[in-house]
Amino acid sequence: MLENHDTICALATANGVGAISVIRLSGAKSFEITESLFSKSLKDKQSHTVHFGTISSSEGLIDEVLVTLFKEGKSYTGEESVEISCHGSTFIQEKIIAALIASGARMANPGEFTQRAFLNGNLDLSQAEAVADLIASQSRSAHDIALKQLRGKFSNELKDLREQLIHFASLVELELDFAEEDVEFADRSELKILVSNVLAYVRRMAQSFELGNAIKNGVPVAIVGAPNTGKSTLLNQLLGEDRAIVSSIEGTTRDVIEETLNINGIIFRLIDTAGIREGAEEIEALGIERSKEKIEQAKIVLCLTDASNSENFTETTAWVKSLKTLHPDKHILLVQNKADLKTANLNEASNVFDLQMSALTGNGVAELKAKLVALVLGDYNVQDETIVSNARHHAALLQTAAALERAQEGLYGHTTADFIAMDIREAMRQL
Ligand code: GDP
Repeated sequence: MLENHDTICALATANGVGAISVIRLSGAKSFEITESLFSKSLKDKQSHTVHFGTISSSEGLIDEVLVTLFKEGKSYTGEESVEISCHGSTFIQEKIIAALIASGARMANPGEFTQRAFLNGNLDLSQAEAVADLIASQSRSAHDIALKQLRGKFSNELKDLREQLIHFASLVELELDFAEEDVEFADRSELKILVSNVLAYVRRMAQSFELGNAIKNGVPVAIVGAPNTGKSTLLNQLLGEDRAIVSSIEGTTRDVIEETLNINGIIFRLIDTAGIREGAEEIEALGIERSKEKIEQAKIVLCLTDASNSENFTETTAWVKSLKTLHPDKHILLVQNKADLKTANLNEASNVFDLQMSALTGNGVAELKAKLVALVLGDYNVQDETIVSNARHHAALLQTAAALERAQEGLYGHTTADFIAMDIREAMRQL
């Protein structure tokens, strides 16, 4: 904790060259250290003011800069802070940071500014975690979730749930003091309703993690099917308009760079598209062996059939059926492609398809996109509802639900008040 009294500094903008870079200081000596290098006095200057001048070290002039001041209690960390905007060469960045350190600042540890914001009570833990998510967000939905969490929506909802439980927990605990007298301060039927409401809410939040995780990391999609069913054509159709500008996505286990799509603010990762493009050398008709690995990694699988080929239809439907039993946790869609070439003998079977389309003409592609988005969202409303996207939150919510389930069992099974109180306390602790 002693370390927390140091004045820390670090580059706040990305590493490397840019038009400008921002170097940040936080700690009680931020103004004093900056002033020792700056061409102007910063004494008696207001918070949230910007000052133009030069920065020099013992070796001489380094750069012309803008210095922004934040007084204690009015900054991100809650401490006195300074942001120095300099020209964005790595040489200048390094020189200024070295001069700040020579004047008494210390290099910040990774995440230390946010840690200080947390320790000073400016952010709670879920808000601090949201900062990292906000910085990493690559789509509108991921941004929505992180921003809401940062602004305290998630924290407030948890606080509400805790408060609902606190009242009853205290009443139940009070009963323990009158154990001999067999009184019930907490109305059991009201308590049953409360626990079941809170439990339903917590379960829904916990279940939203699948969606939250998908939004944060992208939804893996596999396009599979026999050669010549139109996989590459579909891929190009999809990528044509919506190719996402995403550098590399963490958590992908393979070296191949995946193609990514941004549909309605949700990122879809098309698995192993390089493999699809080479696809000529498939030995079996359906390429089942090759597809297995892709399907393993996918959340949504598009199985393409060729409307002009009835043999292909029979084989693929059988395959899709077995896939569905094998992977109940995945969305497996049977897609009829080349609907523009549809032959008469296939017309009757049209209702077995999840979708009919033509990758070549683009007919049905909009429906496919809408379907992909609908599958990911389920019945959640990303705009209005809290979506959990953090594994730690998810685990804690599952523990909360488990404790509430025990409390519920206790209430219906006429367990003594001390056990019920314990389970409610545990639920509150997890919240
Ligand atoms: P892949 O082997 O599954 O990747 O199939 P391709 O995308 O290479 O398509 C095989 C052939 O089918 C190509 O000549 C495409 O132009 C054609 N094709 C793909 N989709 C359609 C479609 O919807 N309608 C028609 N008529 N032809 C298509």
